[in-house]
Amino acid sequence: MTKRAGLLKDALTHLKPLMDDERISADARRRLSQPNRMVEVEIPLRMDDGSLEVFTGWRALYDNTRGPGKGGIRFHPNVTVDEVEALSFWMAVKCAVVDLPFGGAKGGVCVDPKQLSRLELERLSRGYIRALVDVIGPDRDIPAPDVNTNETIMGWMADEYRQAAGKHQRGVITGKPPGHGGSLGRTAATGRGALQVLNIWERRNGRGDHHPTLAVQGFGNAGFHFARLAHDAGYRVVAISDSRGAIYREEGLDPLPIWERKNQAKELSGQVYCEASVCSEVEVETLSNQELLALDVDVLVLAALENAVTEQNVETIRAKTVLEVANGPVNNAADRMLHERGVTVIPDVLANSGGVIVSHMEWVQNRMGDYWTETEIEQRLSARLGDQADLVFGRAVAEEESLRSAAYRQGIERIAMAMDGLGSERYFCGDTGN
Ligand code: NAD
Repeated sequence: MTKRAGLLKDALTHLKPLMDDERISADARRRLSQPNRMVEVEIPLRMDDGSLEVFTGWRALYDNTRGPGKGGIRFHPNVTVDEVEALSFWMAVKCAVVDLPFGGAKGGVCVDPKQLSRLELERLSRGYIRALVDVIGPDRDIPAPDVNTNETIMGWMADEYRQAAGKHQRGVITGKPPGHGGSLGRTAATGRGALQVLNIWERRNGRGDHHPTLAVQGFGNAGFHFARLAHDAGYRVVAISDSRGAIYREEGLDPLPIWERKNQAKELSGQVYCEASVCSEVEVETLSNQELLALDVDVLVLAALENAVTEQNVETIRAKTVLEVANGPVNNAADRMLHERGVTVIPDVLANSGGVIVSHMEWVQNRMGDYWTETEIEQRLSARLGDQADLVFGRAVAEEESLRSAAYRQGIERIAMAMDGLGSERYFCGDTGN
C-alpha cells in the first residue's frame, strides 16, 4: 500500500473509528485506503504573446463502485496531487452520504488563472479536457466547477469534449451554462443546500425561531449564495471575508449589494475573475482574516479553502457551531479539539452537498433531454437533502458521536455495501449467505 501524505492522510484519519466497525468489511476498508486512479497530465498552453507554457494537471478517481466518478476541477497555484486526491476522497464520501449514484473524483491544474487572459484561460480549459478525454465521460467520470472555475469554463470544456467525441454528450460535465445543458439552480445550489442543513440543525436543537449571527469566510460562489440566502431568511451576517481581508458590521451586512459592487469592476473590464475585494466597502469596519475566524458569533461559516482551522488557530474559535461549506476547512486535530470543547461542526460531506445534488439533476436532465423548472429543482434538492440530513443527525444522536462521524458512517456503509455486493472475502471463502 502506498503511504498517503498530507491532506489525504489527514482526511483518512476520520475513517479510523470506522475501521473497527464490523459493519464495514475488511475488503471495503482496504479499498477505501487509496484512490483507484490518479492521472497526471502536462498541458501545453500557447500564450497570447506566442510563447509556450506547460501546466501540470491531475484527475483523481477515488472510487467508482456506486457509479461514475463525480467531482469538480480546481484552477489554483497551490493545487497539488495530494490535494486532488483528498478532494476526490471527500467527493466519494459525499456522494454516498446523500445517496447519489456516483463515485468520487476531482481534478485540478496548478496555475494562477488570474494571470491568464480570457483566451489563454479558454485554451487551458480545452487543453485540460483534450489531455483527459479518455478518462472522463458521462458514464466514466463527470467533472464540475470548483475554486476558480465557473459555468463559462464548464461550457468550453463540454464543447471540447463534444468535438473530441464527434457528438453531443452533455452529461460529461455539470455546472454548464443555460442553453448548453446547464441546470437551473446549479449556481446557488451549494449555498442553498448549506443553509437548509443549518436550518434543520437549528430546528432540531430548538433554535428555529432565533436568528443566529453568522461570520462567513470566503465570498465566492458557495459563500456568496449562502450569505445572500441566509440574510434573506433573517440570519444576521455580521462579517464576510475574501482572500484579501474581512469586513464587519454588528447590525448585519446585506451580501447582495456587496457582491454586485465587487463584481462591477469585473464586468466593466470584461475580466473572468473578480479583482475587487469586500474590503473596498466603505462605512464598515475591516478585520483581518484571522480576526473574522475568531469572532464571537453563533455560526462560523467556512466557505473558502481547506485547512482554515487547524491546531494553530483552533483555540481562537469562539463560535458555537462551525458550518463547513468548503471542503476540508477544519483539519483532523482541530476537529477533535472543537468536539472536546462542545463546538458542533456540521461537516462538509453533508453541508456542501447541495452542489453535487443539483449536478446529479443536471446529469439526469441531460440524459433525458428534458429540463425541469427552477422550482422543481429546488423541491427535489430540498427533499433529498432534508431526508439525508435527518438520517445523519439521527445517527449522531443514536450512536452518540459527532456529526462528522455519523456522516462518514452513512457514506462509508453505503460504499461498503456496494463493494460487498460484488463479492466479499466471506463470499469467496465459500460463505454465499444461502
Ligand atoms: P470560489 O473560487 O468561487 O470562491 C472562493 C472564495 O474564497 C473567494 O472569495 C476567495 O477570495 C476566498 N478565499 C480564498 N482564500 C481565503 C482566505 N484565506 N480567507 C478568506 N477568504 C478566502 O470557490 P467556491 O466555488 O465558492 O468554493 C469554495 C469552497 O467550497 C471550496 O472548498 C470548494 O471545494 C467548496 N465547494 C464548492 C462548491 C460549488 O458548487 N462551488 C460545491 C461544493 C464545495
